[in-house]
Amino acid sequence: MSFSSLGLSPAILQAVAERGYVTPTPVQIAAIPAILRGGDVLAAAQTGSGKTAAFALPLLQLLQDSPGEKPRRLRVLVLVPTRELAQQTAEAIRLLAQAAPQSLKIAALFGGVSINPQMMDLRGGADIVVATPGRLLDLIEHNAVSIAAVSSLVLDEADRLLDMGFSDEIGRILALLPKQRQNLFFSATFPSAVHALAARMLHEPARIAV
Ligand code: AMP
Repeated sequence: MSFSSLGLSPAILQAVAERGYVTPTPVQIAAIPAILRGGDVLAAAQTGSGKTAAFALPLLQLLQDSPGEKPRRLRVLVLVPTRELAQQTAEAIRLLAQAAPQSLKIAALFGGVSINPQMMDLRGGADIVVATPGRLLDLIEHNAVSIAAVSSLVLDEADRLLDMGFSDEIGRILALLPKQRQNLFFSATFPSAVHALAARMLHEPARIAV
């Protein structure tokens, strides 16, 4: 199996090659075509499985295929449980987005630091936001960002998001998102609370090793 048989565009294949990826991982083989089709995905994926590229590559391609509006409107929202994961995931997406013909703004939003630099960073908009739930809600309340035009939502490490007590925040965020959207759900484990959240969020998902 090669990346070129997954439906990715030449620009995205170039990004893959520049990262030095030769063979797609199992979660990438299953997730990339499903995400490109626009459907929902439910994936069991551990750290190290290549899950970040599994959602980032097809989402970058979908963004490229539908040129954004001016000013930029946020189209991809990735929710993560920790500050470290927000920073790492945003950086991983930035590296993959470098080869894209159209320049994309990717912002990382997380708590535990002053909100002002993040508000500044959001001036002029962002195409992709990687955020922890509490800080995202703070920034929405400050009118620094709107999630009303998001077309794809990613829950990364959904089990840890719930373990860390973000259930209420996730509920509030879901209520602010457009009803018509793509949902991608990644979790290492599937206790009943995670299953319940997946069932509530997902519409006929492609199931990957779940
Ligand atoms: P993740 O599971 O997303 O945290 O990725 C784990 C590591 O694997 C990261 O350092 C990625 O850059 C790397 N990686 C992701 N996909 C591939 C691939 N197809 N081939 C080689 N390395 C990869």
